[in-house]
Amino acid sequence: MGALRAIIAGKRLESAGETFTSRNPANVTDIVGTYGNASIEDCREACRAARAAQGKWASMPAPVRAEILANFGKLIEKNKESLSRCLSREMGKPLREARGDVQEAIDTCHFFVSEGRRLYGQTIPSEMPDKECFTYRRPIGTFACITAGNFPFAVPSWYFIPALLCGNACVWKPSEDTPRLSEIFTELIHAAGVPEGVFNVVFGEGPKTGAALVALVDEGLIDKVGFTGSTAVGRGIGEICGRNLQVPCLELGGKNPLVVTPSADLDLAAHGITWSAFGTAGQRCTSLGNLIVHTSVKEALLGKVLAQVNALRIGDPFNEKNDYGPLISEKFAAGHARNVETLVKKHHILLTKQNGRVTESNKAALGARFDGDAKNGVYAFPTLVDGVTEADEIYATETFGPLVNVLTYSTFEDALRIANGTGYGLSSAIYTQDILEAYRFRTGIGAGMTSINNSTSGAEAHLPFGGNGKSGNGSRQSGIWVIDAFTKWQAVNWDMSGKLQLAQMDTGYVAPRDYTVVDKA
Ligand code: NAD
Repeated sequence: MGALRAIIAGKRLESAGETFTSRNPANVTDIVGTYGNASIEDCREACRAARAAQGKWASMPAPVRAEILANFGKLIEKNKESLSRCLSREMGKPLREARGDVQEAIDTCHFFVSEGRRLYGQTIPSEMPDKECFTYRRPIGTFACITAGNFPFAVPSWYFIPALLCGNACVWKPSEDTPRLSEIFTELIHAAGVPEGVFNVVFGEGPKTGAALVALVDEGLIDKVGFTGSTAVGRGIGEICGRNLQVPCLELGGKNPLVVTPSADLDLAAHGITWSAFGTAGQRCTSLGNLIVHTSVKEALLGKVLAQVNALRIGDPFNEKNDYGPLISEKFAAGHARNVETLVKKHHILLTKQNGRVTESNKAALGARFDGDAKNGVYAFPTLVDGVTEADEIYATETFGPLVNVLTYSTFEDALRIANGTGYGLSSAIYTQDILEAYRFRTGIGAGMTSINNSTSGAEAHLPFGGNGKSGNGSRQSGIWVIDAFTKWQAVNWDMSGKLQLAQMDTGYVAPRDYTVVDKA
């Protein structure tokens, strides 16, 4: 069999040209699959197939479309374990987290299935007699979507389940880090009953197939773009959509702050910090970037955090005892090593003794806490950088790996300024027992999401997920809000009077009257 490069209207196209390889990051000699780079002509064909299939799909009653998505949820549930294992193998997150990634898709199906019976419009009174006004949600059309590999099941489900529910047809360019899982995702969507042309996939690398797909916005083949990935790429996509007067969904990077105040429960905070920083090896868009701790509790807090960091178990994602596995791929491992080398400066203090990539020669530093293959796997040590200030590049740079900055503050205003000062605004957290501080934090923080006495990462299928500033353009995923992204409002007025009635002119306005109360008592 050749390398799959696209699934368009149900047809599997194999590569005649360039290919790329998906490898297990815990052992890069284990090849998960080889895929082709879909060409711009493939992308055009996929968009045209979506356009051709969309009208019929949209004319199916929304509750029926929802039943098909309910099937999708049931199929995911039935295959949850094998999907989770495929996810761990291809992307490297521990099996427990992989199951959570898949579960998010099941939850999203549960949520949107009943939304199919609730795609409400409104009945609105007219200012004219014998006339009624209504609003309807209409699908947008062809939805093109590009996703990152760190949540390879949850994030696509956040896009496609509501997009399909609302009557759109889709073209997906999944991450080159997780093509095998994306192929299975597509098979399940089709097996659930989504017509083949309604859901199409083009595989490929970002600067090639991804860029080719986005270029089709200029050709009028795409009506809406969804993008989850880095801020730099998202900005370019936003520019293309902007000149076509389209509003994309842009879900981008983060540099998420977590503030620990003098009144905080330090044990609780230490647990939240360790999870926020090193869960998924720090490769969540919501991972902790800047730990901002009050000077009075810094020593006590860092003692607790370091005790946890020095107990972290790293290695095989299938070992349920491990806290984190390998980085997603060689690209992310190289990026992490570069960050440790170039962003950590002389005035910083590395609180962790061994940093950067785990190798055969340094893995002994982790002792029995490491059970990975250091030669063939792409593992990294956890890193805590103390002495970071707002003037440092590392303060405002997303590092997307197991690396956390430590900053200190004296007044609450300082803490809020540091938390808000990176230009990103995705997630945030505060640990405090002081109600006023918690209130001021949640009203003063610029992030799209904030946790009080909880970690920076975590999402629920019915809560809006998304960021501001460099983290996104204000679009949100999950919950009912996303329906606004995948529908456009149509206002309809129906005049039954049998004559031309003109609003603002023929309206029977009531003349104002005057009356003054005279109280004689
Ligand atoms: P990336 O931007 O390099 O790649 C993301 C996707 O975009 C991939 O499918 C890739 O192939 C594609 N791509 C890359 N260059 C492209 C181009 N020029 N044109 C079109 N498509 C292109 O990001 P990454 O490094 O793979 O992923 C990590 C980033 O994703 C981090 O910044 C992380 O914070 C972000 N992320 C954000 C969210 C969120 O919801 N806000 C969720 C997950 C990941």
